[in-house]
Amino acid sequence: MIDQPYVYRHSALVEPEWQRLPGWAAVTPQEWGSAQWQRAHCIKNIRQLRQVIGDGLDERFYADLERDQAERATMSMLVPPQMINTMVPRLSPADPGFTDAFYADPVRRYMIPVFSDRRTDWPSHPEASRDSLHEAEMWAVEGLTHRYPTKVLAELLPTCPQYCGHCTRMDLVGNPTPIIDKHKFELGRDDRLSAMMDYLRRSPGVRDVVVSGGDVANLPWPRLESFVAGLLEIENIRDIRLATKALMGLPQYWLTDEVRAGMERLATVARQRDVSIAIHTHVNSAQSVTPLVAQAAKAMLETGIRDVRNQGVLLRGTNDKTEQILDLCFALLDDAKIMPYYFYMCDMIPNAEHWRLSLAEAQQLQHDIMGYLPGFATPRFICDVPYVGKRWVHQVARYDRERGISYWTKNYRTGVESDDALALDREYEYYDPIHLLPEAGQEYWRARIAEKTAEPVAVG
Ligand code: SF4
Repeated sequence: MIDQPYVYRHSALVEPEWQRLPGWAAVTPQEWGSAQWQRAHCIKNIRQLRQVIGDGLDERFYADLERDQAERATMSMLVPPQMINTMVPRLSPADPGFTDAFYADPVRRYMIPVFSDRRTDWPSHPEASRDSLHEAEMWAVEGLTHRYPTKVLAELLPTCPQYCGHCTRMDLVGNPTPIIDKHKFELGRDDRLSAMMDYLRRSPGVRDVVVSGGDVANLPWPRLESFVAGLLEIENIRDIRLATKALMGLPQYWLTDEVRAGMERLATVARQRDVSIAIHTHVNSAQSVTPLVAQAAKAMLETGIRDVRNQGVLLRGTNDKTEQILDLCFALLDDAKIMPYYFYMCDMIPNAEHWRLSLAEAQQLQHDIMGYLPGFATPRFICDVPYVGKRWVHQVARYDRERGISYWTKNYRTGVESDDALALDREYEYYDPIHLLPEAGQEYWRARIAEKTAEPVAVG
């Protein structure tokens, strides 16, 4: 046997026992399997978390969480029981070491962030912004981002069944937090969706629509089905991708009779019209892939859709180790039939520096996972560069490691650059977390901030 940096072992998926959590000790399998029960028992605040987990979690954790919610959180709390149950799956709150294990848990790290997780030296990058990918600037009509030549992103709704602490759409998605007010759509839902459909009908160059949000699992099924059915009537649309983290966070929803039957109707029409429908989900950690998640993914494949793919996000403390990424990819591939597809670098939103990896770290991870998975299931690591779009991490044009600035080029104009003659000649910047830079790089940023603050304010 050759000694290898990573050793593959097939491990059977496990649904942790929810009865180990005091608040759910009496919950029956029927209740647990009900999407309605799951939605009604989501954890939205500290009081509810305490009711479920109880005194097994030290007071210091609850205080840490309270401070984060008041001073740092960009997303409000919303965690379905299914996701809570995958945190610290092998310990009960009464077991010694539960609090430390909860602090260290990879799912907890991004679903229930606490103040002590975050950087105090550089909590936010100076170039971080609320809509860091400038999606709203590129709306062709409200909620429809037209960034790439042949594909669009349709943000159908601003809610999800679960809110992730690192959400890149923190500007729009979820409820306001004490430090972040949310952008509100101006048009009502039906008018917005009709305007999107009208735009797509008059845009023959678009062949690929990412139907997203938020999370499409929060749109009443009949409304989602009619939107997708409308897309299927547009001649030039060949790919439809439905974005739903809930396939993992609330698999019970994708297992309901209504959704399975509806998806089968859509898949049948799609096949007749030679269109591919796929589900894109968002799983960041192997322990989230449980038998219920696998069942939901396979139920969707059985409806006749083309594929179920995963787009994870690289997050320090969750999946920044080669072993964590490979364990996740094999769990997805072996038993859930979910295709590992992308891992995005966490975007430059406020208060995210403790999660973000540098470009060099992402490149190293990409290097280190090569050769273990089948080629077709080897995920690409992606840097979503503002005003550029997705780039594989090794596609960088230049990289100043001291200042943590990478420079990127592009080969198409986004929706806001139709008159920009230099758009294809310019280099676009992306920034590493400053706390990872050598002292000279950190000094550069301190000086850059000081210079900016000293700039005279125009009067008049
Ligand atoms: S599911 Fe997606 S859109 Fe919803 S909060 Fe998480 S990252 Fe944001």
